Amino acid sequence: MSVAASRLDEPLGKVLGMRTAGGLGRLGLETVEDLLRHYPRRYGSPGEMTEIGRLVPGEHVTVMAQVRTAQVRTMRSRGGAMLEAVVTDGRDTLQLTFFAKRAGVLRMHESKLVPGRAGLFTGTVGEYRGRRQLTHPDYIIVGVDAADQDEAMLEASRPIPIYPAAASVPTWRIGRSVRTVLDPLVEEDVPDPVPEEIRKERGLPTLLEALRAVHVPDDPEDWRRGRDRMRFEEALVLQTALARRRAAREALAAVPRPRAGGRLVDALDARLPFPLTGSQREVGATIAQDLAAATPMLRLLQGDVGAGKTVVALRAMLQVVDAGGQAALLAPTEVLAAQHLRTLEQLLGPLGHGGMLGGADTATRVALLTGSQGSKARRVALAEAASGAAGIVVGTHALLSEGVQFADLGLVVVDEQHRFGVEQRDALRARGAHPPHMLVMTATPIPRTVAMTVFGDLETSLLTEKPAHRAEIATHVVPADNEAWLARAWARVREEVDQGRRVYVVCPRIDADDAPEEADALAGAPESDAGGALELDDGAGEAPKAPLASVSETAVMLGERPELAGVRIGVMHGRLAPESKDAAMAAFASGEAPVLVSTTVIEVGVDVPDATMMVVLDAERFGISQLHQLRGRVGRGSLPSVCLLVSRAEEGTVGKERLDALAATTDGFELAEKDLELRREGDVLGAAQSGGRNSLRLLRVVRDAALIDEARAVARRIVDADPELHEAPALAAAIDSWLGEDREEFLERG
Ligand code: ADP
Ligand code: MG
Repeated sequence: MSVAASRLDEPLGKVLGMRTAGGLGRLGLETVEDLLRHYPRRYGSPGEMTEIGRLVPGEHVTVMAQVRTAQVRTMRSRGGAMLEAVVTDGRDTLQLTFFAKRAGVLRMHESKLVPGRAGLFTGTVGEYRGRRQLTHPDYIIVGVDAADQDEAMLEASRPIPIYPAAASVPTWRIGRSVRTVLDPLVEEDVPDPVPEEIRKERGLPTLLEALRAVHVPDDPEDWRRGRDRMRFEEALVLQTALARRRAAREALAAVPRPRAGGRLVDALDARLPFPLTGSQREVGATIAQDLAAATPMLRLLQGDVGAGKTVVALRAMLQVVDAGGQAALLAPTEVLAAQHLRTLEQLLGPLGHGGMLGGADTATRVALLTGSQGSKARRVALAEAASGAAGIVVGTHALLSEGVQFADLGLVVVDEQHRFGVEQRDALRARGAHPPHMLVMTATPIPRTVAMTVFGDLETSLLTEKPAHRAEIATHVVPADNEAWLARAWARVREEVDQGRRVYVVCPRIDADDAPEEADALAGAPESDAGGALELDDGAGEAPKAPLASVSETAVMLGERPELAGVRIGVMHGRLAPESKDAAMAAFASGEAPVLVSTTVIEVGVDVPDATMMVVLDAERFGISQLHQLRGRVGRGSLPSVCLLVSRAEEGTVGKERLDALAATTDGFELAEKDLELRREGDVLGAAQSGGRNSLRLLRVVRDAALIDEARAVARRIVDADPELHEAPALAAAIDSWLGEDREEFLERG
């Protein structure tokens, strides 16, 4: 760290004593800063000041009273211990009750609730054997927790911070520890990552002020102000880290590969069997420009499956070949690499037959390098890569780490893998004096907000248009308990069949007694706790669990439906033997068994152009992206198609909202945004965001998109003016501590 060791770095043991520090350690809190950054999860409201005589059960109140008695007892019947205290306001009495597993835990209360002492007691009024009582009240004892009665009143009127706690460390003890470390701090102790100039510009409190506001708020307005500043700080730290990375990359010199000449690109365009879509042209022009620059391109190209990314990549690769360089195309698996080779060769035709009989005179060659190929083929490919005879080399990531030599590698295209790690990038940099340009392609929709947060240092392009004329898919949500609608749905299935078309019926399970093994984990899994958040989200409100439709039961049920009399029904699931699977698919494709009841095994790779209808049972059990993929099995031909989502999800639940989103659009990116919105925040960035020391605590990529955008602009300004952050040492230090070892990889994705 470039900042002199500050009080924030002090170990908690030194400040709070080993015992308390030990408990906090179990929450992962080691230093003063850790504890101060352990923000309240939410705030309890202070109770209304009331006289004891007027207490009404169920009300949340605060009473000013004097302790009359306090006693710890062990409970023979229930085990454990309790502390009973009686307090009085001079006229009436009120009982306070605390329970604990061991009497020792209650001694702290006993030592403070000394008869004769006065205090403020806050809690919800309960009744026990006809007497009013407060169970586990919060309290402030005058002379102990507050200097005098006025201070006690002030304390009692504050919102009560409620911390993410553990059984061993209750929230009140965390609160007390926070006060112990926070109260003595002065501005000089708390270096602020947000530079003063930016703070003034945005009217933000200092870090110390914000910490006070968050931990010891006078009123709700106070903690909101503190929280907003913390959010901005998080966004700024992250975006500054990304801006520096970007600046560092831009400082590297790449070899410009301008479009000049463009013989292969033009020849390819001339022989393409289809016109490029507007989207492909636009993105192509942007990439062409990037490649012509002397700074290395790092661009993420997103486009739904079938958007036509391969052609865009090929045109970029040919531009580099035209300019005298080579390109590598990396696929996630060997099978896909081999498939790419075939596709490229087909698109190139004679343009890919360089040096061969019948090859065009401008032609280049495409080489394939995989781990499983024979040693002779491999030797040839290696030689072609090293000599430059192969303008394009296709392979898996291993291609970069295996010390494959290129004559002049100018562009690396990474297909379908947006997790392109540090090692790979380092391997690339180590390849030569000049890092190659890089194009990363993905069909997994990464919403803009996430791309900005996680991939803030790379440029993104989107292929919005789909090339082939795709048929419309109408999607409807059908309530599972509406027999009339269901009958109509099965009648519709019959109509499709009678017109010679095919229908999928998708179920979440195979047999009646199966777990829903195939359902998307997102749909049914318990939501993870985002931790450290200042707000509690409401529960997702999933539909109550009723028996889920299974393939075997549904096939029998459909066989008995009058609407489907005489229609052959096939079944398909992952447990069938390969021959049975093939037979089922063949019977379905040929129309012999035009209705196929299946699990989600049909999600990928199944292509039956005559399939025009899909019925998904218990649709709320599946995640948005999974349903989107499933739905992609219909509407593949030119016939308009329909998708029915049968569901028990109640109006107003997240499950229902997911289905409504699917009914509203077939745009994969829009759906991904919606998905993100509906998910609990902790899932968004995976482990990177949930818990851990150096994680995003308050920032949420969807909710805070605008804030992240602003922080990004501010970050670029800061880095442009002061790349080494000499003027902002606390910001530099925050980045260092945020970028723990593991965080580095998180940033390097892409
Ligand atoms: P993806 O983006 O999923 O990688 P592909 O590049 O594999 O998509 O393209 C899907 C199909 O669309 C391929 O058969 C490809 O030849 C075809 N295609 C690409 N661009 C166009 C276009 N402009 N017009 C018609 N078909 C196209
Ligand atoms: Mg592809």
